[in-house]
Amino acid sequence: MSLRLYDTATRSVRDFVPRTPGEVGVYLCGLTVQGPPHIGHLRSAVNYDVLRRWLEHAGLRVTFIRNITDIDDKVLAKSAEAGVPFWSLAYANERILADHYARLGVLDATYEPRATGHIPEMHSLIAKLIADGHAYPAADGCGDVYFDVRSYADYGALSNQRPDAMQESADAPARGKRDPRDFALWKGAKPGEPEAATWPSPWGPGRPGWHIECSAMCWRYLGDEFDIHGGGLDLVFPHHENEIAQSRAAGLGFARYWVHHGLLNMGTSKMSKSIGNVIDLPAVEASGVRAVELRYYYTAAHYRTVIDYSDGALREAASAYQRLEGFVHRATEIVGVGQPGELPAEFVAAMDDDLNTSQALAVLHDAVRAGNEALTAGDDAVVVAVLSRVRAMLGVLGLDPLDPQWAGRSGGQLRPVVDSLVALALEQRAAARARKDWAAADAVRDQLKHAGVIVEDTVHGPRWTIEGEH
Ligand SMILES: [Zn+2]
Repeated sequence: MSLRLYDTATRSVRDFVPRTPGEVGVYLCGLTVQGPPHIGHLRSAVNYDVLRRWLEHAGLRVTFIRNITDIDDKVLAKSAEAGVPFWSLAYANERILADHYARLGVLDATYEPRATGHIPEMHSLIAKLIADGHAYPAADGCGDVYFDVRSYADYGALSNQRPDAMQESADAPARGKRDPRDFALWKGAKPGEPEAATWPSPWGPGRPGWHIECSAMCWRYLGDEFDIHGGGLDLVFPHHENEIAQSRAAGLGFARYWVHHGLLNMGTSKMSKSIGNVIDLPAVEASGVRAVELRYYYTAAHYRTVIDYSDGALREAASAYQRLEGFVHRATEIVGVGQPGELPAEFVAAMDDDLNTSQALAVLHDAVRAGNEALTAGDDAVVVAVLSRVRAMLGVLGLDPLDPQWAGRSGGQLRPVVDSLVALALEQRAAARARKDWAAADAVRDQLKHAGVIVEDTVHGPRWTIEGEH
């Protein structure tokens, strides 16, 4: 394939060459499930879903791993507040997350592992790091185990920082550390922490540090070395820097490309529960914007750009999607559904250029403009050709309105049934007209309108739409 991707580690756009021909392993840092997701979190899933669909379109077999971080300080604090075990809170939020992914048309991950299911793999990595002189148990006997950043010469390379200019690691007090930048691989249990959130280990009871979780799950599902590691730009440091350090120090090749997406901000501040500026999918839907339109909104921006959220921009995106959808529906009524065809070369070039979805959508809108002109001119052969290209482009972006994912949700499964009922009514109307009974003909149309079906007479005969539908 000729995909080129921006690789954070080399700060350059590189040709993507799979490690094993025909196969790709992708790991995306999933969410910490201390609460339901907001639309900033969901951007990540859609961005990588587009990457995954593009890789699959190129004929590659993709193993896509997106983890669930089901234990950490925030999960513990929230579950203590709610008076429930950590897994109860984590699982409830995991279910909401899965529902939102499905509503946005995000394909299921190949595996979606939970951090707490991989403690033995984490122990193996930590034991190896200690044996090789890259990690050590805390000097104060608290049960923590730290990674020794000075033992790993490339520390700071991913985030392009000089080690002496780096922040201290805030995940544990500095008292037991050799260097304030050393980060926790294992966190010894503290008094008052629930026993149910504590696991035995060779270094004492405790729970894993956040970073080692991802290294262990990458290793478990993708092996010593794999193709693409993804996440938000806010994860480059310290999370991904630490993941690389501990994985490579443990002898693993780890990720070959680092793909990071921009965040979605509210105005200029990050969307965050603590600031109280959170918008979630149900709120978007309650405002009249459908999930497919939110997906389009994410896709309209290049994945590496920051999206400054605004209601106006979301509504504009919804209207832009409705123009695409409107063409597909009108064209389908006239020339039939057909089959998605070849992708235009300009579209492929845009997608291969570091997934330039904004450029790809410009190609799509140009095609729809040409398709609408052909509809007006009654040039059915052109309509057929444009429709097949448009559906191919929308399909690879996960946005084809005729895909059961979306068609089913707007009552599309009932459409054939309504179609034949409306056709029956329209036959009666035509019969009334034939016998010049205009009152009866108008009555049929008025009754359909009363039922929410709008009939329009066109050169191709009557066409109908459901009121308020596009
Ligand atoms: Zn991670």
